[in-house]
Amino acid sequence: MASESRKEGEMEEKYVIEIEGLEKIYKTGNVRAVDGLNLRIKEGEIYALIGANGSGKTTSINIMTGALYPTNGKIKVLGREMPKERHIVSRYLGVAPQEYSIYTDMTVEQNIKFYADLYGIKNKVFEEKIIYLLKVMRLTEKRKTTVAQLSGGMKRRVSIACSLIHSPKLVFFDEATVGVDPVLRKYFWEYFRSLKEEGVTLVVTSHVMDEAEKADRIGLMRGGKLIDEGTPSELIEKHQVKNIEEVFLKMAEGIELEEK
Ligand code: ATP
Repeated sequence: MASESRKEGEMEEKYVIEIEGLEKIYKTGNVRAVDGLNLRIKEGEIYALIGANGSGKTTSINIMTGALYPTNGKIKVLGREMPKERHIVSRYLGVAPQEYSIYTDMTVEQNIKFYADLYGIKNKVFEEKIIYLLKVMRLTEKRKTTVAQLSGGMKRRVSIACSLIHSPKLVFFDEATVGVDPVLRKYFWEYFRSLKEEGVTLVVTSHVMDEAEKADRIGLMRGGKLIDEGTPSELIEKHQVKNIEEVFLKMAEGIELEEK
């Protein structure tokens, strides 16, 4: 298994996510969504989880964040056992889920304030942080706008801002940049890199392969398992292809690429 063996010299690495033999069977439909996942994510890395629709990415992330109970397996997040210690861990997590986690009848500011209050953020800190986040998300002009009036991409950006208001240590972006235009996406990635520089760990899922290629490491899921893992260049070299999209087609979908 790609992430199982600890190599020499790797001992000092600090892992913020350690998963062993994770299984999730949804009773509804008796679906084995995660089927023996082994995964370790290092502190301060940007890790992209990629895989075809239904390969188990969201289910795995929901278990890591404590939103969903596993059927079996050992899960440690920030050194704490999940789901048992999720009440301690959740303070340090930022989550921008696939489905919107924002209230459409509230303004952008009210949504962000809602999350700030959940984490007990003082008004002065909130004011500094909201100004900064709205600037990064290019939403300063929309601060007092009701979310229902915003475009899909803007709503995503509000969702991301909400997930970052409490300065989390570990952030999950599950297809968080869907609908965000390429220029802004590029700008976001610069911001994600700056979070990484501050020691924040980011776990992202995306179907945009040039986005996944910006991650430090990529994990490929198929059938609820991690079937391959490595840095983008390691994966490209290993599979002798041109880019991560071709790695994805070959591994996640099992499509044989034509010789060019
Ligand atoms: P996508 O790329 O489409 O977001 P994914 O890799 O995130 O997919 P999951 O959403 O984790 O995949 O789904 C994994 C499997 O579990 C799929 O077969 C899906 O139909 C099933 N599944 C997901 N949620 C539930 C649920 N609440 N009840 C029953 N089955 C579910």
